[in-house]
Amino acid sequence: MATYVVLMGAPGAGKGTQAKLLQEAIGLPQVSTGDLFRANLKNQTELGQLAQTYMDKGELVPDHVTVAMVQDRLSQPDCAKGAILDGFPRTTAQAEALDQLLANIDGEISIVPYIKVDEEVLVQRLINRGKIEGRADDNEQTIRTRMQVYQEETAPLLAYYRKRGLLVEINGEQSVEAVQQDLVQSIREAKA
Ligand code: AMP
Repeated sequence: MATYVVLMGAPGAGKGTQAKLLQEAIGLPQVSTGDLFRANLKNQTELGQLAQTYMDKGELVPDHVTVAMVQDRLSQPDCAKGAILDGFPRTTAQAEALDQLLANIDGEISIVPYIKVDEEVLVQRLINRGKIEGRADDNEQTIRTRMQVYQEETAPLLAYYRKRGLLVEINGEQSVEAVQQDLVQSIREAKA
């Protein structure tokens, strides 16, 4: 059965960094909806143009668009054994769509690590990332919107997965290496 790791955490918590490192450690590919949208934007696809209006404001791209993109990505051969989901699901509707999708392809969520970091630490991290990487949506106003959207739309998913016994809290205020170590250990324990 294909297994999926769903990485949760607020913007800036380190999901992308950790997911990239995890790929090798656990042998599953990273599927990042933010990266997929950015790639579409760069290639000026119709999907990219649609997504841009939302991304620039720090708002969520509509669920049906996001779910269709994820469904397409997960059907590709490199995802046959599962994937590390980074930045998806972000709403209850997306989480329900994911459950449905996995039921159809005989897949299951093995664990939902939640990388926990204090909000003020996150805002500072994102402002710094904006200066270093030049990501258009890493400016203070958009960051505040993204945090608010996270609190309203995405944070309720923590309870959704906790209720199912899948959520594991990881202290995200440690070094990248220490967070990675905790993640790998919790994923191995979940499999055991
Ligand atoms: P990220 O790189 O995960 O911070 O995502 C950057 C932006 O892409 C977000 O602020 C949203 O506009 C959009 N996005 C990424 N993932 C999703 C998702 N699961 N649902 C809706 N919009 C998303």
